[in-house]
Order: sequence, then structure tokens, then C-alpha cells
Amino acid sequence: MKTRFAPSPTGYIHIGNVRSAIYPYLLARQQDGTFILRIEDTDQARFVEGATELIEDTLKWLGLEWDEGPVVGGPAEPYFQSQRADIYRAWGEKLIAKGRAYADPTDSETIQKYRDECNAKKIPYLYRNFRPENPPEWKPGIPLRFKADPKPRKWHDEVMGDLEAGPEVQDDIILIKADGMPTYNFAHIVDDAEMGVTHVMRGVEYLSSTPNYLALYEALDLEVPKLVSLPHILAPTGNKKLGKRDGAKSATEYRADGVLPEAMLNYLACLGWNDGTEQEIYTKDELIKNFSLDKIQNSGARYDETKLLWMNGQWIRRIADERGIDALYARTITGDGFWPESAAPYDDEYKKKVLAIIYDRLKTLADLRDMTTYFFENPTVDLEMITGNKFLKKFSEDELSDMLMLTSRKLETIQDWNADNLQAALNELLEETGKKPAELFSVIRIALSFAPFSPALHLTMNVLGKNLTLSRLQTAATALEND
Ligand code: GLU
Repeated sequence: MKTRFAPSPTGYIHIGNVRSAIYPYLLARQQDGTFILRIEDTDQARFVEGATELIEDTLKWLGLEWDEGPVVGGPAEPYFQSQRADIYRAWGEKLIAKGRAYADPTDSETIQKYRDECNAKKIPYLYRNFRPENPPEWKPGIPLRFKADPKPRKWHDEVMGDLEAGPEVQDDIILIKADGMPTYNFAHIVDDAEMGVTHVMRGVEYLSSTPNYLALYEALDLEVPKLVSLPHILAPTGNKKLGKRDGAKSATEYRADGVLPEAMLNYLACLGWNDGTEQEIYTKDELIKNFSLDKIQNSGARYDETKLLWMNGQWIRRIADERGIDALYARTITGDGFWPESAAPYDDEYKKKVLAIIYDRLKTLADLRDMTTYFFENPTVDLEMITGNKFLKKFSEDELSDMLMLTSRKLETIQDWNADNLQAALNELLEETGKKPAELFSVIRIALSFAPFSPALHLTMNVLGKNLTLSRLQTAATALEND
């Protein structure tokens, strides 16, 4: 079993591209096969500097290590199509020798004329109807065309089932362009053959060209590999393919936003595939074990970012719970890091304490930037947040100030500042003041954080420490009193 991921380095790694890497990877690992990375960079116009590195980086980030390809090499080197021109030329010559390819110097204006003629007559345009009678000898600079053998064709697609197509969709496709570079249509067939690829897994958009590919395999005496068409990923609404404009970010943008590779892998693997159970969270090993071609859906799968972020939250908790806070913390300091700027002077230990009490609320690691600032800097006092709070509206500012002062005095007596003692003190305060938890705890929580959310009070105060806790309570109390 040999599978491949064959991206074009265009600089933007669409979510659908990433899925086209995941499935062949899973299959290769499951069957002790080989997973090949091949860079399809023959379209010079679309080439983007650094794009190959971006692809490699994304695969590494997701843990999709390749067995053959750039960096690691392999028996079919080179793995960049732009460096394989001689190989395509040799295969092109094979086809010429068999009478199945011809040099075609026809210029683009003439070709356009043929097209217009067909349009005017309302007949389908097929280049083979205009095939030049006496093609010149093939040499660099002249495009090489396939000589089609149009006939009914049947084939099996592992996802789409049994398919067939008539001769009307088979044409004299270009194999090698005037610039000496092969077309995708030709290059991938040559490469898959040379590299021994057994399963061609790619987007369903190549399905309509498959009859032409079958003709090429036949002309080259090649066995047709297993064809696996992956259905489109659909936009969140409507019936269209997911595009950049639908809010889907590229894989690297999600990474920068603090999506974990485990979650990305899990989400994308399950987008259009499920093993028939209710399971939603899969480790890479579980995916490898459970993956199967026959469970790939043959209709489009709808992209749902909310689900991705939910899954990411699940993975954040799983890593913390199973591997410990240190393991999760390590993820938060990768790249530029995910902490607010004001956290920079604080040491790892303090940040780990913050993480330990907040991680179960995170959807992405980048949430740390907004959700933890009050652990690193004094929040701006915003009395409206207190007086406008639905549980606190009924109290006067003086009453609220008193509640905070009372709390401050009570907490001041705690000798051993820890979560248990803080919890006990808070319970006593409830009894002593006769206030409801929602009332007393809301005013305390806001005074400490001036944030819409904070973890349980005793945990928050434990991390903030005695000094900061008391001074924030007093600051808010004074502000209320002076208002
Ligand atoms: N280079 C093609 C793309 O990026 C790959 C298609 C294939 O996997 O054969 O769409």
C-alpha cells in the first residue's frame, strides 16, 4: 500500500487540502504502507515562495510524517514535479513511439477559433475533431498532446462506487506544455506509476477528468491504481464548496489561533468519515485503527467551525487531564505564545497555576489572551459592571461597598492562604451577611476581575494571592463609596 499527498504549493492550505493529506496518511499507517509527499509545482504562475515549507510545516504540526518526499528523500526522487521534467519527457516519447501522442504547434488564437466555431454550431467542443493532420516532430517549445481513444469506459471509485462515461468526455488533452512542464493530468499519472502509488486519494473535482486518465493508463500499459474521490467540504450554509470567504481559515491560521493539532486532525478526519459509532473524539492512533475507505461519505460534508472549536475544547481538557498541566502549558508557549502581553514578566509556575484553574473554559489557547488579563494586571475599575449586574441592582453602592470591605476584613484573618481555607471563609461570609451566593460572590468576583468570567472564587483568589485579593476588594469598595 502506497498512498500520497500531492499538494500544489500555492501558499494557502485550505482545510480540504489538509483532509486530503489525512486520509492517505491514515490508510498508509493502518496497512503498514508508505505515505508519500509529492510537491506539484509545475504551474510556475501559481508558485509562491515559502509555500512548500508551509506544507511541510503543517504536516509536521499535525503529526502526518511522510515516508518519502522532500527532506526525507526516497527511491523515486526527486519529489518536486518541477525537477522531474526529464522523466515526463521520456514518458511523452513513449507515447509518441506508440502513436498515442503528437506535437501540436497550433496557437491559442486558432484554438479559440475552433471553440467559437463549435459554439456557433451549438456542438460540444472537442479538440480531437481538429487534430492537425501532419504534426511536426516534437521538440521543446511545442506542446505535446495525447491522442485520445474515445470509447465507453467503466471504472470503480472506492467512494463513489461503479461509474461510467461515454466517449464524448474524452479528448486530446495536453500532456506537456510549451514551457516543457507537464500538465497535472499527465504528471500525476507518470508520478503515481513511478512512485508505485496504489491508492490515489484526492478531491472529487478530478472525477470528471477520470475518463481521460483511464485512457492514459491504458495507452501507457499501466494498471489503474485504486481511485478514491473525496467529496467536497461544503460551506456552513447553502450548497456550495467551502471557500476562503466562508470564514474558514487556513490550517496555519487555526494553529495561530490556538487550535491544537489533535483537534484539527480529529475534526477533519471525521468531516466526511465516521466509523458508524457515536464516538467523536479520536486520537491519531484510534483514527489509524478505525479508518476505512468504505466509511467515507460520498456526499459533501458540511464545515462547522463551532464543532471544531468544541472539539478543541475537548482536546484542551483531555491533554490537561491525561498528561497534566505541564503538557498543556507547553502548548501555550509555542510560537509567539498565547498569553496576554502583561503576562510576560510572570514566571512559568504562576502561569501554570492560572492555566490549571481556567483551562476547562478554553475553546482555543488564544482565549487565554482575553480571559486571563486580570491575573497579570490590575483591572480597570468599572462600577457599572457592579451596579448594573442583575444580582446586584437591588443594592445601594454603600451596601455593595460594605460587602466588599467585610469580605476583605474576613479574608485578612486567613493565615494559611489556600483554596480550602478560602472556601471556608466564603461560606462563613454567606452566613454572616445573610446574602445569597449569587449576590455576594458576584460582587466579589467582579471586584477582583472586572471580567465577564472568572473561575471559582476560592481558586481565583488563591492564585491571585492575599495582597492582590485584598487590595482589589478595597479598591472597588472605595470606588463604590466615593461614587
Ligand atoms: N496538486 C493537486 C492539488 O493540489 C493534487 C491532486 C492530486 O492529489 O492528485 O489539487
